[in-house]
Amino acid sequence: MHNNSPVVIVTGASRGIGHAIALEFARHGYACVLAARNSIALGRTADEVRALGAPEPLSISADLRDRDQPARVVEQTLARFGRLDALVNNAGATKRGDFLSLPDEDMLDGFALKYHATVRFCRAAWPHLEMSRGSIVNIAGIGAHTPTAEFTIGGPVNSALINFTKALADRARGTGMRINTVCPGPTATDRLTRRIEALAAERGIGMAEAETEMLKQQGLARYGQPQEIARVVRFLCSDEASYIHGATIDVDGGVTSGI
Ligand code: NAD
Repeated sequence: MHNNSPVVIVTGASRGIGHAIALEFARHGYACVLAARNSIALGRTADEVRALGAPEPLSISADLRDRDQPARVVEQTLARFGRLDALVNNAGATKRGDFLSLPDEDMLDGFALKYHATVRFCRAAWPHLEMSRGSIVNIAGIGAHTPTAEFTIGGPVNSALINFTKALADRARGTGMRINTVCPGPTATDRLTRRIEALAAERGIGMAEAETEMLKQQGLARYGQPQEIARVVRFLCSDEASYIHGATIDVDGGVTSGI
């Protein structure tokens, strides 16, 4: 079944920021390819996409750390929709903690999903995006710019992603394709809830108190909402952003103080 709507692949679309990104594209008439591990949660995102009146989505349940999965997702997208206009590499799960207690496996796992799956998706999607003069947005995180002691996996993964995105932007010059990075600041998703829970347990305090404490530590008035990230990602893939290429955009409420 081919269609005339623009087509986007969103990885990690089952919850959090990826879920908001998928709904934002659906609201703008895109046909959405939703990839994540949990098929039940993906099914719920697909229902929400349908409720917005967007074209019937394609849900693909896959562990994207597996070497062959990114190319399989791209192949299935082309088989179903016959085109690809945007790719959003959002899936990521890097462990926090003290460097000396994080084993090698956690470091490799962090790179396997967030870095290597992104590289493989970009490679597989490249010719199709070149044909459509489409866009890639890689979701990194502000830990790329501000290293901290308890983020020795996520920080380097995010920095590597920015470097890789810039290199691809260089490769894409003159093709009409555009490739950018979005770095969210602390955003209200399950990942953040787990961090607040950990702080509450460590300090023996309630969730509300732990949240206030974390906001204070981070110098924030409030957390970002997933939709606030999603709107920027969708904008970057639109013609309105036609001269934004190779950029790294922080969406962090101003918390990054460096330049
Ligand atoms: P989340 O944990 O709420 O969701 C992660 C998504 O990735 C889920 O859909 C999950 O199914 C998917 N996923 C995880 N492992 C997978 C695997 N092996 N194969 C396929 N899919 C897998 O995370 P989130 O907070 O929405 O974060 C999304 C992205 O934004 C991540 O890359 C994260 O590093 C980045 N980010 C988040 C924050 C934040 O505060 N939430 C801040 C900076 C950067």
